[in-house]
Amino acid sequence: MIQSINSVPAFDIKHQYTTLEAEVSAAVVEVLASVRYIGGPLVESFEQQFAGYHGVNNCVACNSGTDALYLALRALEIGAGDEVITTPFTFVATVEVIIAVGAKPIFVDIDATNFNLDLQQVAAAITPQTKAIIPVHLFGQPVDMTKLMAIAQSHNVAVIEDCAQSTGAIWDGKKVGSIGHFGCFSFYPTKNLGACGDGGAITTNDPALAAKVRIIKEHGQKNRYQYEEIGVNSRLDAIQAAILQIKLRYLDHWNQQRQAIAAYYQQFLSQIPGIIAPQALAGGVSVWNQYTIRVLSEGRNGATVAHRDSVRNQLQEKGIGSMVYYPYPLHLQPAYQHLGYQLGQLPVTEQICHEVLSLPMFPELTPQQQDQVIYALKDILA
Ligand SMILES: *Cc1c(COP(=O)(O)O)cnc(C)c1O
Repeated sequence: MIQSINSVPAFDIKHQYTTLEAEVSAAVVEVLASVRYIGGPLVESFEQQFAGYHGVNNCVACNSGTDALYLALRALEIGAGDEVITTPFTFVATVEVIIAVGAKPIFVDIDATNFNLDLQQVAAAITPQTKAIIPVHLFGQPVDMTKLMAIAQSHNVAVIEDCAQSTGAIWDGKKVGSIGHFGCFSFYPTKNLGACGDGGAITTNDPALAAKVRIIKEHGQKNRYQYEEIGVNSRLDAIQAAILQIKLRYLDHWNQQRQAIAAYYQQFLSQIPGIIAPQALAGGVSVWNQYTIRVLSEGRNGATVAHRDSVRNQLQEKGIGSMVYYPYPLHLQPAYQHLGYQLGQLPVTEQICHEVLSLPMFPELTPQQQDQVIYALKDILA
């Protein structure tokens, strides 16, 4: 396909590859020649570096962000009869793992200003069955972990941070993923720290929990061919570990570029009527995995969807890509009907799904490209 010279993609991971091509290729060839494809020193050193980056004592690498969440729940022995509080406005993985371990997801509505869990409602949703809360630092924006940990601790409930979209984000001076009992990370290629394939990691300061995760992710074996738990196979490939080590050195730089891009958007988009630009919470440092605006319109929900979709189509006509994360709330999805949620029950999430539009955001986005996005939006919404 021929791209017009003006086109601005919603995301672009080719740039990053081109920049690091020589370094990454050499590292991959080295692993190929070493024939140590599973485990080994590269996986171990990546785990150490990732733990060090987060200021935690333990990191266990695994096959994906989804597995990281699953393994955290398993290590905490959460299962049948237990409730886990989370958000309906997230990628589906956050919720499917709760059901995979046999527990029940309890959805709590979100805060319209930052798209993260409404913490007052979290506190109100805690019951004697609640075993954990999974806050999602959505789009790179940290949850108020001070408030959340206070709520969790007063009820003796575990906290599993879903950091899949927020590697490097900071709350009150601490990296997200170092504050709760577990931090769960994804290295899916479009995440802030992306592998060249699937990958994930779990961080924790609790060595006993880390040891348990390690056993479960290796088929439940502690010693070879002796099984203490019913486990799974969830390993990070050595090739991915080698690539991630290289990329980890660039992560802060890329996140700073994302922050500069967000600041530039902020400055101009806040002047355009009919949209609400995202606001970073005081106390938090967002890493802007997505830059997601709300496209407002008067009238009923149906009209709102049409309006947002029309803005998106008009952007597309001007050569500007955008994405809708997420168009449907999880509590209303067919697969989750058995949980018994009804339309109208989580109104902020339902409304936000009709309004959100994620604008082009990746570290290499140029000011010229950003200007195109800003002018196009001004034009469309004038
Ligand atoms: C990407 C993502 C996951 C899952 O990560 P995978 O590595 O794709 O399995 C989980 N939660 C959130 C919020 C995500 O964005």
